[in-house]
Amino acid sequence: MSSRGYNAPIDWTFDNGGTMTVSRRSFVGGVAAALGYLKVGPEVDLFAQTQTRPGGTPGARMGRPSMDDYDSIAHLSSNENCWGPPESVLKAMNQSFKYAMRYGYPGGDVVGELAKLHGVKQENILLSAGSGEVLDVVGTTYLLNGKKVLGVEPTYSSVYAHATSIKSSAIKLPLMKDYRQSIPAFVKAANDHASEIGLVYLCNPNNPTGMIVTKDEVKELLDGIPKDMPVLIDEAYHHFVDDPKYATSMPYVLEGRPVIIARTFSKIAALAAMRIGYAVAPAEIIQKMRPFSMGSVNVAARFGAVAALKDTQGQADIKKRTIALRKKTTTELEAHGYETIPSETNFFMVSIGREIQPVIQEFMQKKIAVGRPFPPMTKHMRVSVGTEDEMARFVAAFKEIFPAKTRTTAGV
Ligand code: PLP
Repeated sequence: MSSRGYNAPIDWTFDNGGTMTVSRRSFVGGVAAALGYLKVGPEVDLFAQTQTRPGGTPGARMGRPSMDDYDSIAHLSSNENCWGPPESVLKAMNQSFKYAMRYGYPGGDVVGELAKLHGVKQENILLSAGSGEVLDVVGTTYLLNGKKVLGVEPTYSSVYAHATSIKSSAIKLPLMKDYRQSIPAFVKAANDHASEIGLVYLCNPNNPTGMIVTKDEVKELLDGIPKDMPVLIDEAYHHFVDDPKYATSMPYVLEGRPVIIARTFSKIAALAAMRIGYAVAPAEIIQKMRPFSMGSVNVAARFGAVAALKDTQGQADIKKRTIALRKKTTTELEAHGYETIPSETNFFMVSIGREIQPVIQEFMQKKIAVGRPFPPMTKHMRVSVGTEDEMARFVAAFKEIFPAKTRTTAGV
């Protein structure tokens, strides 16, 4: 494990400046706890697995491991972009530091650049500290009156957790047998429960399955539900999709429908720790949302985001590498006898045929962080695409933990 020996003490530095000395023996459990792997409840859908609820800054409410401990782990648990931001983005962020002591600092006109990119006006954009903030702000805007959010399970449950925190709740629809989201079920529930529903949440592509809702299905959804029902479409993984049947739902904003698109710089742009995302929506919706937003996106994130928007070739390369590694890994798991769910994102799910929670800890013993449980799919494991080396470590560990078998299909 370390040249210092298994029982040698390690220092754990916390955000509040405090330190704690733990033995190497307790390291794995400690990292697992800090990363949120232990005792994750069904409603606790941890974003980076380092906090009590997704949407906030990862690790904000928990101790963080030291850099050495963190760096020794293969991080395949939070759907990050393992290659990091390119030189151009790092340079832009570096240059922004000359404003680090200011309040009214220049922002690189990130909102103007986003407006240009999406063909909307600046009044259609709300900048946020990660798209997690958008999900919270939309939830607060439409659910404070006690109305419910309608969506599927499993999905990225940040909106559900936020609904619970403001004493609202969710109507959760099951996925279909093929793990896709059922649009007819959405439409039926939206109409049957119209007076109770404040918001529809559609994650496209969905996290944790990685599966898309096609552009025709999105139209079927928006045309089928009550006209004035707000729909939050979370496109965090938009940039990884290859399937031509998928399209962004941005045009519905231009049509003036009550649609809010959430986007992030955390995934394809590799800026997760910088905390920057945004919403695109009709101006009157953005106006309703604005009072609930923090309005506080830091200078480095703003300049980094503008540079990232220009890095189209770099992002195309990231997409290509990610898909190639995802395909290579899933092919290896299939050959070993384990079925994977076809994904259009930088992560995938594999059916493991037994409960995931202890398996997470078995992987953590090998210093590999894999995804949390996603009830009711607790016999599946979500794996983020990491570097070539990390994926090789993952496949080797998988083969040690799971025996080769003739492929079987395990249900949800
Ligand atoms: N939406 C989805 C579907 C996610 O998977 C995540 C994070 O993993 C987020 C939103 C929040 O990301 P961020 O706040 O970093 O933009």
